[in-house]
Order: sequence, then structure tokens, then C-alpha cells
Amino acid sequence: MTMQVPLLSGLNEVQGSRDAALAEAGSALSTSTGADVLTIASVVLGLIAMTAIAKVVTARRENRNIARTARSRALAMTELLHTVRMAESIAGIGVWQFDPKTGSQAWSEGLKRLFDIDPSEVFVEGDAETLLYSYNVDLVGKVKERSDEIEPFDLQFDIEEYDGNQRSISVNACNLMGRNGTVHRVVAVIRDNTDQMNRERELESSHAKAVNDARHARELSETDALTGLANRRRVMRELDQIVMTARVTQMPLALVMFDIDHFKRVNDAHGHPSGDKVLQRVARLAKGQARNGDVVGRVGGEEFVWIIPGASDGMARAMTERLREVIASDSGVMRIDAVTISVGYTCIQAGDTALSLFSRADGALYDAKDSGRNRVRMAA
Ligand code: GH3
Ligand code: MG
Ligand code: MG
Repeated sequence: MTMQVPLLSGLNEVQGSRDAALAEAGSALSTSTGADVLTIASVVLGLIAMTAIAKVVTARRENRNIARTARSRALAMTELLHTVRMAESIAGIGVWQFDPKTGSQAWSEGLKRLFDIDPSEVFVEGDAETLLYSYNVDLVGKVKERSDEIEPFDLQFDIEEYDGNQRSISVNACNLMGRNGTVHRVVAVIRDNTDQMNRERELESSHAKAVNDARHARELSETDALTGLANRRRVMRELDQIVMTARVTQMPLALVMFDIDHFKRVNDAHGHPSGDKVLQRVARLAKGQARNGDVVGRVGGEEFVWIIPGASDGMARAMTERLREVIASDSGVMRIDAVTISVGYTCIQAGDTALSLFSRADGALYDAKDSGRNRVRMAA
């Protein structure tokens, strides 16, 4: 009895044939003796050969599968790397990784590009540190300072290039914590935000300029062009505020009004431009008597106001007398004799408003005029 061992290509077929051969050998053993021993031996040998072939086939198939899986994984990795590089390039970012334990840094291609390094250049030990040092960027030091951060954190570096160009580098970093609670790795996305910073700075400076222009325009609109003193509008605004503050703080407040005596005569005798010089002189003298926080304003042709926060009756009396004396002795300009002023003042009372103060001080001023001019009167 002979056995033919087919050349099998598949494991199942090999196993099927092996089972059939086993059955055949079993039946041969049960029915034959002596002469059939050789046949039985050949069957057994065939069985061994088939088992070995099956193992080889299985191993080859497994190897092929492993190789195929490895190839497709490598392909996927290459594609992923390519995609990451594309994304870095499109977004203009770079990725930086730092191991605090070893001090080693990993720079992505995008990061090298940000620092004008050929992306294919391979860093050897110390290259990264030297490069950052040359830009005066203490990235490692700053990151180490934030080693307690469990949330992502931001850093900002302003660098100057060799050609003198200023660049802004922003860093969004994150500490990856190890099991022992210390930083295992730092991963950071780094971008050049020079354009954005420049835009923000331009915006800030144009905003500051607009605020400044508005303040200047307001100052102009509230300033008397001839004397540089506060005009009526500013006097009323300031007085409103000062009255409110005095009411809250219960601090005294005096409002003084004064008017140049017989000023028409000055104009008539010396001309309007000379009269202007006198007005300017009186304004300067009055300003010289004011303290910080006082407001001196010109509210009419030759009529002035002096707001004195914190001044009691006695203080206001002394201050206004002094003003009157200074003007009477020093207000002469060119060939024009010194002018005199009549002064009326009042101090704040419960329930006063800016208008009620104004009206009482005005009454006192007219009282001073009626009493002969060149004198001070306090409102009744
Ligand atoms: P009184 O003592 O009663 O105040 O007499 P007065 O002459 O000062 O008062 P009046 O109201 O009769 O005249 C005010 C004068 O102030 C008239 C006007 O020509 C002059 N005046 C008003 N504004 C200006 C100004 O801007 N420049 C000059 N030079 N004169 C002015
Ligand atoms: Mg007058
Ligand atoms: Mg007047």
C-alpha cells in the first residue's frame, strides 16, 4: 500500500490530508502485520513531513502578516508626520519639547524654521541651548519657573535679530506631570506673533492718541483763550463736582467772585489790546495766589471766579484780601496803572448747589461794588 503526499498550499488542506493519512495508517495497523510495516512507516514519515510543512506555512503566513502590518503602520506614521509638518508650516508654528530630568530638547521642523534654521538640520548636544542663548531667550529657565503649573500657560519673548528687526515670540506651554507629581515633559507650541503684536501696538497707540486728542480738545473747549484760565463751562463742571465732594466729606468750601473795577476806562484810555494785557496780568496774579486743587476761571469779560476747596470763612477772608492787595499793587502793565478788583465770596452751607453758591457770591460782589469797590465782601 503506497501513500501519495500532495504538495499543499494551504494549511487546511495539509491538516485534512494528515487526518486522512492517520485514518489510513490506523486501519492498516489493525488489519495488517509484517509485510505492511514498511507501508505504515512511510505513512508515519508522511505525517511528520506534513506537520512540519504546516508549521512552515503557518510561520510564513504570520511573518507576512507582521511585515504587512509594519509596512502599513510605517506608512501611516510617515503620512502623519507629513501632515504635522504641513500643519506647522501653514500655521507658522513650531513644537518644542523639553525633558526637565535630562535637560534634552526636541525641536520640530517648524520650530527650526521659526528660528531661521534649516529644518533638516540635526541638532547635536548644546545646539538648542546655544541658539536660544544667542537670541537672549531663556525658554528653559522660564518654563522651569512655571513647573508648578498644572494648567497650560503662556510666555512671551521679544527678540532682536542680527539685522536689528524686532520679533515677538509667543509660547503656549503645558507641563505633563509624572506619577510622582513632578514635570515629566514640557510640550510647547511656539509661534511668531510679531505682526499681531505690531497691530496691537498700533491699535494701542492710535487709541492712546485718540484719547489724548479728545482730552486736548476738551481742554481747549474748556479753556479761556486769552488768559489760559478755566472758562465758564469748566468752572461750572468743576464746581458741580467740588460741591458734591464737599457735601460727602463735610469739608468747607469757598467760592470767590471778583471783577475789575472801572475796566471800561482802561479800554477807553489805552485801547482794547492793552486792556487784554491787563486781563492777562490779573489772571496770572490770581493763579499765583491759588493752591493745588483750587480752580481759577474767567467767567465774563473782566469777571473771574476762584474755587477754594477746604477753605473756611476765616481762610477765605485772608486769601481774598491777599488777592485784592496783590492785584492793586502789581497789576500795572506797560504805562497802565495797576487796576483794583471788587471781591465777593461765600462758604458752602447745607443744601447748597453750584448755582446757589454762585448766586450768593455774585450778590456779595455787587455788595463790594456798591460799597465803593476795591474791597472784599462776604455773602450774608
Ligand atoms: P465796574 O467797576 O462797575 O465793573 O465797571 P467796569 O467798567 O469794569 O464794568 P463795565 O461792565 O461797565 O465794563 C466792562 C468792560 O470790560 C467793558 C468791555 O469793553 C470790557 N471787556 C470785556 N471783555 C473784554 C476783553 O476781552 N478784552 C478787553 N480789553 N476788554 C473787555
Ligand atoms: Mg468791572
Ligand atoms: Mg463786569
